[in-house]
Amino acid sequence: MLAPGSTIGILGGGQLGRMLALAAAELGYRCHIFAPEVDSPAADVAAAVTRADYGDADALAEFAGKIDVATLEWENVACDAVRQLAAMVPVHPGAHSLEVAQDRMAEKQFVEWLGGRTAAWAGVDSREALDAAIAQVGLPAILKTRRFGYDGKGQARIITAADADAAWEAIGQQPAILEGFVTFAHEFSVILCRGQDGAMVDWPVPVNLHKGGILATSSLPAPALVRGQAEEAVALARTVAEKLGHVGVLTCEFFACKDGPRFNEMAPRVHNSGHWTIEGSAASQFENHVRAVVGLPLRPTTLVANRIEMTNLIGDDVADWPKLMADPTARVHLYGKGEARPGRKMGHVTRLGK
Ligand code: AMP
Repeated sequence: MLAPGSTIGILGGGQLGRMLALAAAELGYRCHIFAPEVDSPAADVAAAVTRADYGDADALAEFAGKIDVATLEWENVACDAVRQLAAMVPVHPGAHSLEVAQDRMAEKQFVEWLGGRTAAWAGVDSREALDAAIAQVGLPAILKTRRFGYDGKGQARIITAADADAAWEAIGQQPAILEGFVTFAHEFSVILCRGQDGAMVDWPVPVNLHKGGILATSSLPAPALVRGQAEEAVALARTVAEKLGHVGVLTCEFFACKDGPRFNEMAPRVHNSGHWTIEGSAASQFENHVRAVVGLPLRPTTLVANRIEMTNLIGDDVADWPKLMADPTARVHLYGKGEARPGRKMGHVTRLGK
């Protein structure tokens, strides 16, 4: 167990790192951010910052010398860099969690191996392989890059076979998977946290609404169909965390279909669909992640309100800040980002109700 006053290194400098650093500060820990960006929402609230590329071995070694433990808020840091860091200082979660979560194909194989159901899918590593995948999976389908996809990026829909050329070009001819289109009633996520001792807590599942591939809202309680599928989804997510030896928050996203939950993807980190836990739960995802990383016991995830809604402020939505700040029911979180580009997550608002 690391004592308060110790320093947590965080790989990544976005809003997730910012909220982790704020939670760590409340518990008396310092955070040191490692990120390549000049302007970083996390660096604004942290005790120290290293600005360097994740692949910069010298910078990583120097960083390791200044921290007591490391974690990450961005899962696409190269596994080699994480292994290099792990040779010098404990890193939670470990490289194995990243390896699986970075690659849509590895992720799907891993979850299927554990008995979870996913969309029908096939690997695609060439234009010819895309035709074979279409024959296998059927249409409509979505072509997704295996790596570096988020918020709907690196994806192209294929409605008829005539779309195949354009889709292959659109994703930059990269190694991909083709996923059959899932007819779902809702999307929801399981957010859990696993401690170093293997103890786990999970939060009640929110229903997630996406617009243009980006999360718009997460709300509780989820509809009855989702609540009825939560137990099965939570059991699968817990098995995933266990088998990965994961430490910290793990998020698994699911489609709620008529015939049960289908796993979509996982993130080995705190997640946008868990931001409501800051006000809505006895312990937030950020607090429990920090606790797991430093080896403290985890706190309960009980809800503190009957109704909870988190709304993302995307792009120009943030221009409404004067109105939101004046609304006594709105708990406003702004990430300190400069320019409100379209699709950019600028902040979020949580509302609790009876
Ligand atoms: P992802 O990056 O995989 O989470 O995809 C972004 C969003 O696209 C999801 O949250 C869904 O709304 C939608 N989506 C992704 N995959 C599928 C699928 N196989 N079938 C239907 N919708 C999907």
